[in-house]
Amino acid sequence: MSSEKEAALAAVPNDNPTIFDKIIKKEIPSTVVYEDEKVLAFRDINPQAPTHILIIPKVKDGLTGLSKAEERHVEILGHLLYVAKVIARQEGLEDGYRVVINDGPSGCQSVYHIHVHLLGGRQMNWPPG
Ligand code: ADP
Repeated sequence: MSSEKEAALAAVPNDNPTIFDKIIKKEIPSTVVYEDEKVLAFRDINPQAPTHILIIPKVKDGLTGLSKAEERHVEILGHLLYVAKVIARQEGLEDGYRVVINDGPSGCQSVYHIHVHLLGGRQMNWPPG
């Protein structure tokens, strides 16, 4: 079993603080590639492609994962996707890229603070694993 799958199956889906809160507070290091008042984007510690960036809201507001989205989250959800496009251009991914949101154990989510994966720099395959 892949370590990502093991981590996802072991993760407890709840609204407790996650490692991403520490990254937002700069209590643990990360390689930040983009930041504004609403979101932070940093390089994934275990990259699955030459470019692998996570984009997260600075305030979780109950949005542990996409399945917890409410009407009040519509603006931040749109912003997360728009920022993915901005960073893709910044990273020079002119030929395309992939944007992923894993949700829940079956979706292989391991960190319960919603995040958009931006992956690029290699040819992607379909279907995903
Ligand atoms: P999965 O672990 O199956 O990819 P998620 O979609 O929840 O599940 O993704 C969490 C991501 O967070 C993983 O890609 C993991 O490598 C990344 N990650 C965990 N800790 C850190 C960290 N300290 N810095 C950067 N990325 C991290």
